[in-house]
Amino acid sequence: MTSPEDSQIRSLFAGSQTFLLTAHIRPDGDAVGSLLGLGLALEAAGKTVHMLLEDGVPSTFRHLDGAEKVKQQVEGEFDVFITLDCADRTRISEKLASYAPSLNIDHHITNKRFADINLVEPKAVATASVLFRHMPAWGLDISRPVAEALLTGIVTDTLGFRTSNMTPEALRAAAQLMEKGADLPSLHTKALHRRSFEAARYWGAGLSKLEHSDKMVWGTLTLNDRKFARYYSNDDADLINIIASIEGEAVAMIFVEQPGGKVKVSWRANEQRLDVARIAERFGGGGHKAAAGATISGSLDEIQTRVLDETRKAVREIS
Ligand code: 5GP
Ligand code: MN
Repeated sequence: MTSPEDSQIRSLFAGSQTFLLTAHIRPDGDAVGSLLGLGLALEAAGKTVHMLLEDGVPSTFRHLDGAEKVKQQVEGEFDVFITLDCADRTRISEKLASYAPSLNIDHHITNKRFADINLVEPKAVATASVLFRHMPAWGLDISRPVAEALLTGIVTDTLGFRTSNMTPEALRAAAQLMEKGADLPSLHTKALHRRSFEAARYWGAGLSKLEHSDKMVWGTLTLNDRKFARYYSNDDADLINIIASIEGEAVAMIFVEQPGGKVKVSWRANEQRLDVARIAERFGGGGHKAAAGATISGSLDEIQTRVLDETRKAVREIS
């Protein structure tokens, strides 16, 4: 499958030697999988590749080949700067704020098209599946480690092939990645099911504050909960997926207190007609119709009230 951007990307790659790749902050499986998938393929093509994730690689993805090569700061020079799975320039490390991206590869409908070349495919289930479709046209080979990284991106962004945006094409991509040597059962289990004891304690703290009203269900995680559970990442340990599994609700949310007076909010729509990316955009965030997020400045109580009010309005509009 080729697109108008393919020839531009192919010549960009052919004419450049040193690359800096990054993905969004608080990286998920698609951010890590896309970064490693493209990074390892460029390396195999003889390029020098720097891979950067300011927050590092989460423990649930450290089994992937190349994870140890990902740095938390800029080291060395580069000719080409590529962002992956990143809808918005503010979603990358502040350490990279002064560099202009040459290439932006993503699948978020809210993508701001901030690079010289923008390959954005909102119908794709994952940035990893965009890469899978186009890498052959760029002259890049999909080896076993690349296939494992890309399959991790597809499996995690579709929550194990069950999000409403799933397509036969995504299943075919997964099958072809298995044929290239990726071990689906093992990757699926490690990325989506194995969790640390600390993460489970952290879930417990969030679940103990579960509330619902007006077809909305939500949990809250404070900085204290994190300390109590000895959970040291600033994410929700995927608790949102558990809250989203509760029946009878139109939308699930989680409020995660962050250092520096901010709160990270995640939305998951269970009702097909509800567009949570539009709600998130009102708070400076974005994402997909069924899964979106925003980081908002203010106190937990105040943000919770504002977000619940806006979300309630959106739920009423479709009820
Ligand atoms: P999560 O709630 O799991 O962090 O993110 C859900 C989806 O929304 C993901 O596709 C993620 O990339 C996107 N997202 C989360 N937070 C933000 C944000 O602050 N800005 C934008 N543009 N997208 C976000
Ligand atoms: Mn993604």
